[in-house]
Amino acid sequence: MRVVTLLDIVLGYVLLLLFAAALVMGVFKWGFFIAAAVLLLLYFVWDFLRLRCPWCRGPVEPSQLLRGLRRSCHCPSCGHEITVVTRVNRSVPRRRRSAPAAPSEDPPPRRRPELFDAEKENIHK
Ligand SMILES: [Zn+2]
Repeated sequence: MRVVTLLDIVLGYVLLLLFAAALVMGVFKWGFFIAAAVLLLLYFVWDFLRLRCPWCRGPVEPSQLLRGLRRSCHCPSCGHEITVVTRVNRSVPRRRRSAPAAPSEDPPPRRRPELFDAEKENIHK
């Protein structure tokens, strides 16, 4: 499916945020610099895998993709319109954020052991 999902974009931002946090922590403890490097690498991998134009694989700014949620967003490389969806399943209307939860059915009442034993006795009679 040639769409970009909101989750992809959010995850990209989360990786960047964690990278920034690790960088700040690295000032106090240098070990965090390694974590920052790993997070940055992860971000680049994620960017390469998901945060691209689905048509030409050209780079697209994540902020531009976010704007694509509200209005149309066009790829700067090929000009194709990029569809950004909140869910992978596009048949779900965008307005309804969460489907009403299915009424949880109570588990069948457990039989009381004494009743069960009484029944057993009846069978044997
Ligand atoms: Zn493109």
